[in-house]
Amino acid sequence: MTIFPTKKVIEVKDLHVHFYTYAGVVKAISGVSFEIYEGETFCLVGETGCGKSVTSRALTRLIESPGRIVKGRIIFYRDSGPVDIMTLSEEELREIRGREIAYIFQDPTAALDPLYTVGYQIAETMVAHRTADWREAFRKAINILKSVIMPDPERRVKNYPHELSGGMRQRVVIGVSLSNRPKLLIADEPTTNLDVTIQAQILDLLRKLKKNEQMTLLLITHNMGVVAEMCTRVAVMYAGKIVELGPVIDVFKDPRHPYTRGLLRAVPNPLGKVERLESIPGTVPNLIYPPPGCRFHPRCPYMMEVCKSKEPPMVDLGEGRKVACWLYVK
Ligand code: SF4
Repeated sequence: MTIFPTKKVIEVKDLHVHFYTYAGVVKAISGVSFEIYEGETFCLVGETGCGKSVTSRALTRLIESPGRIVKGRIIFYRDSGPVDIMTLSEEELREIRGREIAYIFQDPTAALDPLYTVGYQIAETMVAHRTADWREAFRKAINILKSVIMPDPERRVKNYPHELSGGMRQRVVIGVSLSNRPKLLIADEPTTNLDVTIQAQILDLLRKLKKNEQMTLLLITHNMGVVAEMCTRVAVMYAGKIVELGPVIDVFKDPRHPYTRGLLRAVPNPLGKVERLESIPGTVPNLIYPPPGCRFHPRCPYMMEVCKSKEPPMVDLGEGRKVACWLYVK
């Protein structure tokens, strides 16, 4: 039996994000709801363009024009009590971003300023959020580089980003994001731009940090292997919606949504026997004109008449599992 944690860190309720383009309104996120609990690694997984990165950015309202959060509530459980991110001022949000909710993005080169040393950039985050003065922040920067297992941290702290390898730069980005000991760390495809051996090292580092620092981690990935290795619970996204949610071990052993089954057939299943890999027939829908009813119906081998016109409700299967599919509606 799976034991569920109970203390919420963040709760997303009925989130809708639209992008207003010349071609039309892209309904990138349509009614996404989930909670993340203290100490867990929660994964959002799905194909490119399914809305997982947009969802993660929306958690601190980091959606840039022409995008807009058109509906939804995002409750963040601060030590001082819950706040609705949607109602905070920009100034209040800046206090939370980087300090209580920190991000690691996929491109470490873009995340670092080429003009400043890595020590300065780690220290600056602490000074900006008033968690240390400059002297203390520089001293802590070396310890932070040690904690992200940077070789020769006393020397590296004085390096500029271009003097480091891609893997080292990502360690610095992780160090910057950890410098204020955030309540929630969001890692958006943190290994995508790194080569395979470095990818494994960075994932291993995140796992160790999570254990040592007792962090809560939201991991965004398209890779089911990473989900199996890293996550406690997973939400599978398709075309701007969550279609299945549950403990990773249960979802991998017994996927319920036809899309999740397809995803797992398309990769070697790390928790099951390796079978012939199959891709999911068809293509992801255009989110300016999403299909009516179930957005997966044009690709679904189990499609029924109702699926073409009515959106399936999210069905609670118990044991923390949910699925949005007419096959489970009684
Ligand atoms: Fe397939 Fe219908 Fe379920 Fe959608 S609701 S996944 S079309 S069976």
